[in-house]
Amino acid sequence: MSLCADRLHAAGAAHYGSGMHCPFCHHTDSRVVDSRTADDGTTIRRRRECPECHRRFTTVESATLSVMKRSGVSEPFLREKIITGVRKACQGRPVTDDQIAVLAQGVEEQVRSLGLSVVDTNDVGRAILGPLRDLDTVAYLRFASVYSSFTTLDDFENAIAELRRESGISSGGSGGGEALGTTGSSAT
Ligand SMILES: [Zn+2]
Repeated sequence: MSLCADRLHAAGAAHYGSGMHCPFCHHTDSRVVDSRTADDGTTIRRRRECPECHRRFTTVESATLSVMKRSGVSEPFLREKIITGVRKACQGRPVTDDQIAVLAQGVEEQVRSLGLSVVDTNDVGRAILGPLRDLDTVAYLRFASVYSSFTTLDDFENAIAELRRESGISSGGSGGGEALGTTGSSAT
């Protein structure tokens, strides 16, 4: 049988399960050695190892955060879905998997910080837009066009105009300021 860690602050706990005490020696930390989502997608099993006594134990974390989709169906919040969506938007762009992973982690933290058990798809989308815009403006526009359901050219123009305005304020001092598409090369 497994320990039910329903109080655990959910899946956000990276690789070192913050607050997950070893049930054998009560060491205050544990390392996740394996994690898998249950068939119905509502729970995550984690195999953990105590760095102190090296014994292993399993925790079952329930997905306390659900996302309400536009269709009215709710599903468990999964960081992987953010990664999938963002990666799609970043296709062909100079964005690394690491950057996407960091973005997804930040988004998850932000969404969880709302303190709700159910969030709207829009809440998640909004949380993605900001950091994605910082990462890559083209990917941002792609994502925004799907998420915000852009329907006309005006929608794109408005979004681009907004980007131009903002990059005009915070442009890092390279001469041209050619805005879209050329910003990637100078970063990092
Ligand atoms: Zn231990």
